[in-house]
Amino acid sequence: MSIQKDALSRLVSLFAALSLILAACGDAENPRAEPTNARSRITAAPQEASPAPAASPEEPAPTDDGMRPTREVLVERDVKGLGVKDERVLEAMRDVPRHLFVPEEQRSRAYENRPLPIGFGQTISQPYIVGLMSELLDVQPGEKVLEIGTGSGYQAAILAELTDKVWSIEIIPELASRSRSTLRRLGYDVTVRQADGYLGWPENGPYDGIIVTAAPDHIPQPLVQQLAEGGTMVLPVGAPGSYQTLWRVTKRNGQTVSENITDVAFVPLVRNRR
Ligand code: SAH
Repeated sequence: MSIQKDALSRLVSLFAALSLILAACGDAENPRAEPTNARSRITAAPQEASPAPAASPEEPAPTDDGMRPTREVLVERDVKGLGVKDERVLEAMRDVPRHLFVPEEQRSRAYENRPLPIGFGQTISQPYIVGLMSELLDVQPGEKVLEIGTGSGYQAAILAELTDKVWSIEIIPELASRSRSTLRRLGYDVTVRQADGYLGWPENGPYDGIIVTAAPDHIPQPLVQQLAEGGTMVLPVGAPGSYQTLWRVTKRNGQTVSENITDVAFVPLVRNRR
């Protein structure tokens, strides 16, 4: 009996010592401090996350950021539901945490099917349009893709889920550096360059896919030249300020074939910044 009592009091003092150590570490209230691993940070970030269980820091689940169920609803209703069928694109959209690509004050609206402001007068595209354009681009694993208009980096992340060779050009320096760091922090291997995307990026071409996410008023010839034989370019073309036409341009035997897909509304492709 006294042996048991002795063991009990030892156990009590052991607990007391342990809680002292925890308190001294300065994180007694939140012993699960934010992990430094980039992929785990997706799990830790959303404040407004629905009450899905947090992934264990030992086994970070890259896509289990608590918002996945919300994304699944968006993809089912507003992307698949509006006609996008490519299962690889749909899965990429279920995986990429769109809320982490928008400014903090827009996060609560990140899973609505609408474009959102990202600063500097620019917007992240509507999820349905991202799905549609990605499907039209038809990117296969290992293919080379160039995006014009990195913006938030979200479309680039979707492309990076589909192939490991993604380049993206953004003309606004602050957006180029912000999207570069968002993509890197979330573990996406995308090379972002600050430049005028009208001219493309000839050094890495030709590209199997080119996607333009700002609207020029004509099809940029440098981009046509950098499209590989058999490649596809998807772009909005039209005057700024109203609706433009979304085109799919394919190159066959050196000739381009352009198909008019639908009406869209994009910010203009600008030429005068460097
Ligand atoms: N794809 C983006 C949305 C882009 S909005 C996303 O997923 O968030 C269009 C972007 O094109 C803006 O960031 C704008 O600054 C950029 N842009 C406009 N003209 C450009 C040009 N000539 N070259 C490169 N980027 C350009």
